[in-house]
Amino acid sequence: MIPIPHHTGHYAALLFGMPIIADRENVVVVGGGAAGTAIARRLSTMINHTKLNLILVSSRSHMVHYPSIIRTLVESTPGTHGYEDQQSINKAFIPLDHVFDEGHGELVVGTVASIVEDGPHGGHIILEDGTLLTWSVLVLAPGCTWEGPFAFPESKNECLNHMREWRLRFKTAKNIAIAGAGAVGIELATELRGRYPVSRSLYPLLVCASNRLFFA
Ligand SMILES: Cc1cc2nc3c(=O)[nH]c(=O)nc-3n(C[C@H](O)[C@H](O)[C@H](O)COP(=O)(O)OP(=O)(O)OC[C@H]3O[C@@H](n4cnc5c(N)ncnc54)[C@H](O)[C@@H]3O)c2cc1C
Repeated sequence: MIPIPHHTGHYAALLFGMPIIADRENVVVVGGGAAGTAIARRLSTMINHTKLNLILVSSRSHMVHYPSIIRTLVESTPGTHGYEDQQSINKAFIPLDHVFDEGHGELVVGTVASIVEDGPHGGHIILEDGTLLTWSVLVLAPGCTWEGPFAFPESKNECLNHMREWRLRFKTAKNIAIAGAGAVGIELATELRGRYPVSRSLYPLLVCASNRLFFA
């Protein structure tokens, strides 16, 4: 990533899409998940790009698409069929380079470390690598953190390694206990049962606080 200088009159960064132009005000969206990408895409069709820079800042260069992640994690380990199932991987980890309508926006890959309000009309954010980015409008969509199989790291390679590790763990586990019988727990249990129906007698144990599913 190219560092973005503060208050210069030059093009500051160019990763995907339009350059950030320093004498324009910035509309900054933080978080390249389902929410942040939807907001950034919609804004890219609406705002006046001759007056404003639209910037999406995300710690990942891809979106982790959680609705398809459970099946992806439970799939066979790489090499079983002589290839890695590229189709499910492409669905689970979606690159962010086409978020903006007609390229009308800029993706900055980095993690926001702090947010500062400089007054009633905006402020700045500072990324972990020290990059400073001013904002007139700031949208925060950093999502939430998950545990265990769903605790994905940042880079695409690390995410793929995390996926491979969990595939192997599911494949070689003798017993699996899943705590929580909400949507995620139920789906994980059924995917595991569906993936290994006859080859092993794997009956995932679903542990929940009630005898009712989706109990909250
Ligand atoms: C296993 C599983 C299955 C699910 N299935 C479904 C389903 O079928 N249907 C459904 O509707 N929902 C489902 N969900 C819930 C759904 O995934 C979440 O509601 C959704 O991901 C929330 O989107 P988000 O954009 O708010 O956050 P996220 O998807 O978590 O995205 C947040 C983004 O912000 C980035 N970020 C975080 N902090 C920073 C920072 N400091 N600086 C820069 N970037 C940052 C993260 O890297 C991430 O890219 C599921 C969740 C899980 C775990």
